[in-house]
Amino acid sequence: MISKIDHIGVAVKSIQEVINVYRDGLGLSIEGIEEVEEQKVRAAVFSIGENRIELLESTDPEGPIAKHIMKRGEGIHHIALRVENIEETMAMLMEKGVSLIDNQPRMGVGGSKIAFVHPKLTKILLELVEH
Ligand code: ZN
Repeated sequence: MISKIDHIGVAVKSIQEVINVYRDGLGLSIEGIEEVEEQKVRAAVFSIGENRIELLESTDPEGPIAKHIMKRGEGIHHIALRVENIEETMAMLMEKGVSLIDNQPRMGVGGSKIAFVHPKLTKILLELVEH
């Protein structure tokens, strides 16, 4: 069901401020910068082999990324796990008592479908992503 780590999401105050380090410093290739209105974020996606790093900047002072930075500072926000069928995976997890933040998938970066697992049990925010 869960096939691999899809990407790591990193909360940043400003993509502009760090983009050069990732692109020119680390030499990672950028897939694109995209705004996801539903999540109130702008995302810069870098590919590293099969995996990616997603820099996330809030577009709203009340958005989840802005709140995360206020509470915990900049840094790793979530780890995303790739799944074949997100609805099936969500149903399976709920059946096993793994609570989810989302009742149904929402729109993620690149037209993906995403849902978050509640960090209470996993100790880190996990995102399920179906491309
Ligand atoms: Zn993500």
